[in-house]
Amino acid sequence: MHVLLIEDSLDLSANIGEFLKSRGHAVDNALDGLKGLQLAATDSYDAVILDLGLPGLDGLTLCRRLREASRKDVAVLILTARDTEADKLRGFDAGADDYLTKPFSLLELLARLKALVRRASAFKGVLEVSDLTFDLSTLLIRRGTRAITLAPTGMRILEQLMRASPGVVTREQIERTVWGNDPPESDAALRGHIFTIRNAIDSENEPKLVHTVHGAGYRLA
Ligand code: CA
Repeated sequence: MHVLLIEDSLDLSANIGEFLKSRGHAVDNALDGLKGLQLAATDSYDAVILDLGLPGLDGLTLCRRLREASRKDVAVLILTARDTEADKLRGFDAGADDYLTKPFSLLELLARLKALVRRASAFKGVLEVSDLTFDLSTLLIRRGTRAITLAPTGMRILEQLMRASPGVVTREQIERTVWGNDPPESDAALRGHIFTIRNAIDSENEPKLVHTVHGAGYRLA
């Protein structure tokens, strides 16, 4: 993997960088947000590890601008000392794919990165549910005429829901799609992704397409 590490703590940056390199991955470092955005938007990385508290430009703003700059395909994993639900939701809303709360294990970081990158693999065709369309080759998502932007993980969940529509997709099925055999302990991350998808698809349109099936999972119909 070619990884961009945006982290202003020299110790942590060296720590993560050395670990990833020792496992055979290429790592570029940025110590502030502006340099990080510049690198992330111009170069071709498989994944970005992004600290939230950064000088120059904070991580959430960086992530949002990166998605706006059309790097919709790069996996973004947020590192955060913050551990509240609201912070995680803000992270997903800004376009992040996953997060780790400091302190974390380097092995878990690597496992999460690999999982994100593996699942960013290509798929083809156009899915359609009501006036929602998802072109799997161009990754263009539309609700009616409105273009919808989602991070790679959000797109994978949406693809799963659209393929199963009008059937229910269980939480476990979605977790397997997103995290493989290594799902997070709490379901906050999954709920965060669903929140973001629902917001993107249903906030400006009727009828609502994303439905929670209590005790089971989610369905799109
Ligand atoms: Ca920091």
